[in-house]
Amino acid sequence: QVITGKKDDAVETLQVGDEPQVKAKSIAEVRKSLPIYPYREQLLEAVAEYQVIIIVGETGSGKTTQIPQYLHEAGYTKRGKVGCTQPRRVAAMSVAARVAEEMNCKLGNEVGYSIRFEDCTSDKTVLQYMTDGMLVREFLTTPDLSNYSVLIIDEAHERTLHTDILFGLVKDVARFRPDLKLLISSATLDADKFSAYFDDAPIFNIPGRRYEVSTHYTQAPEADYLDAAVVTVLQIHITEPLGDILVFLTGQEEVDTAAELLLQRTRGLGSKIKELIITRIYATLPTDLQAKIFEPTPPNARKVVLATNIAETSLTIDGIVYVIDPGFCKQKNYNPRTGMESLSIMPVSKASANQRKGRAGRVAPGKCFRLFTAWAYENELEDNTVPEIQRTNLGNVVLLLKSMGINDLIHFDFMDPPPAETLIKALEQLYALGALNDRGQLTKLGRRMAEFPLDPQLSKMIIASEKYKVTEEIMTICAMLSVNNTIFYRPKDKAIQADAARKTFSHPQGDHLTLLNVFNHWRESGYSTQWCFENFIQHRTMKRAQDVREQLEGLMERVEIQVESNPDDTDAIRKSIASGFFYHTAKLENSGTYRTTKHNQSVQIHPSSCLFQSAPKWVIYHELVETTKEFMRQVIEIQPQWLVEIAPHFYKEKDIDSENKKLPKARGKAQIN
Ligand code: ADP
Ligand code: MG
Repeated sequence: QVITGKKDDAVETLQVGDEPQVKAKSIAEVRKSLPIYPYREQLLEAVAEYQVIIIVGETGSGKTTQIPQYLHEAGYTKRGKVGCTQPRRVAAMSVAARVAEEMNCKLGNEVGYSIRFEDCTSDKTVLQYMTDGMLVREFLTTPDLSNYSVLIIDEAHERTLHTDILFGLVKDVARFRPDLKLLISSATLDADKFSAYFDDAPIFNIPGRRYEVSTHYTQAPEADYLDAAVVTVLQIHITEPLGDILVFLTGQEEVDTAAELLLQRTRGLGSKIKELIITRIYATLPTDLQAKIFEPTPPNARKVVLATNIAETSLTIDGIVYVIDPGFCKQKNYNPRTGMESLSIMPVSKASANQRKGRAGRVAPGKCFRLFTAWAYENELEDNTVPEIQRTNLGNVVLLLKSMGINDLIHFDFMDPPPAETLIKALEQLYALGALNDRGQLTKLGRRMAEFPLDPQLSKMIIASEKYKVTEEIMTICAMLSVNNTIFYRPKDKAIQADAARKTFSHPQGDHLTLLNVFNHWRESGYSTQWCFENFIQHRTMKRAQDVREQLEGLMERVEIQVESNPDDTDAIRKSIASGFFYHTAKLENSGTYRTTKHNQSVQIHPSSCLFQSAPKWVIYHELVETTKEFMRQVIEIQPQWLVEIAPHFYKEKDIDSENKKLPKARGKAQIN
């Protein structure tokens, strides 16, 4: 059943640009001008009538910011919170801030958000935005989600791993909680699949307004899409009428590089050319800088927003007329056969490319510049993005589901099941880490591991550090690894000084110990901002690491882990790391390249690593990143016999010495004889 929104005539609708006078619209006026507003009553009626509804409406129609408020106004928050999940942390924070502003309250009071390592809610909170992963974790403590009267699974079309897991979990809860309302909201029109999955739930359609967007392809493939994107921005700026530009890039580094290039190249344009305001948005950008993308562009200027995928559907930026789409995104990929997960830059799907294009037509007719050929669009792009659940390591969610008492994972109600191979691999890995016993049941260690909102390897590393009496150091390393952001700052004009500063922290045994060094020195400085500045360290990133570390300390107490420090025992520190990451081992071959021990894949140390030059024989890496090659990022040197000592079920003597005999004299220090 499809309920296509019929406009409620009694409701006055304001159109953008109706008012003759040039005054800023009040918040109430803006709210009334959103496409969803005329359907408010009808939507509330549908919610009253049905337990589960699928809501479809274009990005920017007001689903995320308005529906929770409508529900609040209609009294649903009297008997529980309205929860709204977002696949991305930035979206959860940004949207909560916007709604708090619209409701004229302080963020964290009536309107709050919760993301990993950050809880900005209080007893007063009635509208709670959160990442999908946080809601999954809530099932551990309150399996019936009794705190909530309505749950909105937002951006369902993104099909992130946690959103897919939530589908199964909330569907089940809805069966034994008839009072719980469930809204599944999506920006794409293929809602039939959602409806079918949720027992033929009705689809509520919010008709959007949309202007024509013309598509412009390149004649030939671009060799350097980043440079091509920058050139296109400048071309639009010089030749096209005013209107803001949105550029889709794949990650923070690209966004920062593009910003720098644009800054350099606009400097020389002279005063005849209008001002170009360069803004950026990505997940780890500080909140105050994020807010800049929403600032209205002054007359006679143009804004360019350099964005990651986050601007595809999660955030709506008003005023975009031009979209530049190089056609790539960063994606996690997983090979269940080898158990190798890596992050790589991949072509987007047709569905994604069309979402991106749509961003140009919200306020006026727009133009979309695709930096790939029409042929490539037709022949090389997949129709849809593969759901994350089918291309990621499931260790984390399997551990969570097991902790919730869901044992039969093969028969879990997946919308699209993961490959059986991937599930089996996850079970194997959890068994190897000691989280499951040989019958696949959760062990005491597994239960403790699940308490940490971390990947199983990191949780294991933390718990193992108790035995080695280096919990303080491992917590710091874990926090530094979790902030997943550039810690070292390298301005182009001070590159030499920055590199020299960085060298002073380098630890000969590897990057984890280097990170520990940075943190400990910063702590000695009294967590000083000035110290960070002098050492080319990003202060904000360090602050975040400090926050994460504090949270970890709290969890240690809960799991009753004795906290001890021994910064000089780097063997103990590295053994703790190996206890979690023994899977991620690679060995230097005669040929000068590394191969992973179990699957013989060729990998290299990332040039940013402090072990890049010394290239020790045996290493453990934190993650693999694929660019031109598979690179290991965050690497430490280990002794191979530790593997046999720490993971005897996984490594035998022959694994570590058979090939050794064939090798000439070692270059690395870790050579065993
Ligand atoms: P949807 O969820 O349907 O994509 P949203 O509810 O996110 O739509 O956005 C509705 C409108 O709210 C946007 O068009 C934009 O005008 C406004 N908006 C959302 N977030 C912000 C923000 N942080 N600052 C200013 N305006 C915002
Ligand atoms: Mg939204």
